[in-house]
Amino acid sequence: MRKIAIIGAGQSGLQLGIGLVQKGYEVTVYSNRRPEEIEKGRILSSQCMFDMALQYERDLGINFWEEECPNIDGISFTMAGPEGTKVFEWAARLDGYAQSVDQRVKMPGWMKAFEEQGGTLVFEEASIATLEKLARTNDLVLVASGKGEIGKLFKRDDERSRFDRPMRALGLTYVNNLVPRDAYTAVCFNVAPGVGEYFVFPALTTTGPCEIMVFEGVPGGPMDCWKDVTSPEQHLERSKEILETWFPWEAERARDCELTDDNGILAGRFPPTVRKPVLELPSGGIAMGMADAILLNDPITGQGSNNASKCANLFLKRILERGTDAFDRQWMQETFDAYWAYAETVVRWTNSMLVPPKPHVMELLQAAANNPQLAHRIVNGFTDPTTYDPWWFEPEEAERLIAA
Ligand SMILES: Cc1cc2nc3c(=O)[nH]c(=O)nc-3n(C[C@H](O)[C@H](O)[C@H](O)COP(=O)(O)OP(=O)(O)OC[C@H]3O[C@@H](n4cnc5c(N)ncnc54)[C@H](O)[C@@H]3O)c2cc1C
Repeated sequence: MRKIAIIGAGQSGLQLGIGLVQKGYEVTVYSNRRPEEIEKGRILSSQCMFDMALQYERDLGINFWEEECPNIDGISFTMAGPEGTKVFEWAARLDGYAQSVDQRVKMPGWMKAFEEQGGTLVFEEASIATLEKLARTNDLVLVASGKGEIGKLFKRDDERSRFDRPMRALGLTYVNNLVPRDAYTAVCFNVAPGVGEYFVFPALTTTGPCEIMVFEGVPGGPMDCWKDVTSPEQHLERSKEILETWFPWEAERARDCELTDDNGILAGRFPPTVRKPVLELPSGGIAMGMADAILLNDPITGQGSNNASKCANLFLKRILERGTDAFDRQWMQETFDAYWAYAETVVRWTNSMLVPPKPHVMELLQAAANNPQLAHRIVNGFTDPTTYDPWWFEPEEAERLIAA
């Protein structure tokens, strides 16, 4: 039986680990946190996932919360003007719903399923010595450590990493009692140019259904405002202040909202980074990175968990196809190249949202207000951002699409 070790019990590590044990592989997943620590700990993400990524979970039978979790049926877009005005807005339905299951619920549940299906969990902070040991005793070692330090052993790919610093100051606030959107449920995406973005959508957390507020502040700007916040109450207050100032229509909905729990808050920032996929260890052994460990996007387009699911699905297929042949450096590079063939557009699209929009992108967004087909096209690109190519990136193609 082929032996595979995975560092990191997150979206990609556990999804791949479960997929492999279901096919009879001997899989060990290393986690630096126990399930009860995750469940009782801080939120880490807003983890909104779209239909294609959710389908890969369904394929493995690990969509345990699909019935319980509120559906997100569409996406709305509002461009804010100065002094809390709206410049334009539109919305469209998703062809397949999106969902967000708090990772504090999902990961402990998946850890249990992984063990029940025959996988081995080791609770340990994996180090380079761990990788050395695992490379000697396994057919393949994968690093799925997300933003964990160990991922930094993989060299930064300077050509593919557009930014060398965080592009947004991030804030997350999980709340109850938010007034539901009229009509259908949606990710309500609001942009205040030069200031930042705010989006909010329904989710499932440890206490049941909730709404997740995501704040993306331009560094150094007025929404980069979490540093002096020292308590959960202040975090909620600051969240409401941002809405009052920049997105008053969203403040209306949030007036009576309360935190789901004291750990339902987060503030931080990180630079979007692409890394080389293969790590050579001092002894000459090799390990391969996956998902956020080697391809980390800003959450502005909500793609990280989606990418992690797609990466896990692709790696699963590639490992199965490999049969009994060695997982050598060439196989690793080709496996990453196959992932990059998809993820490159996601990176380009996400990065395009972190800088002032090009005129043709503004035209697309504005035109969608009077063009339901275009709005539908933009909204449904979230499940597969490769569909944005070429019209999101090339002015002539954007014009052609608007005209059509
Ligand atoms: C504010 C914010 C909002 C987000 N919103 C969204 C969204 O709406 N939609 C979306 O798709 N994505 C979103 N994301 C991104 C998404 O959460 C991640 O991209 C996704 O979880 C990545 O999956 P992963 O498997 O690569 O890593 P993770 O899910 O982060 O898992 C990595 C695991 O490895 C463990 N680990 C790390 N180092 C070690 C070690 N040395 N030894 C053992 N274990 C280790 C960690 O504890 C963790 O459990 C958001 C992220 C942030 C920060």
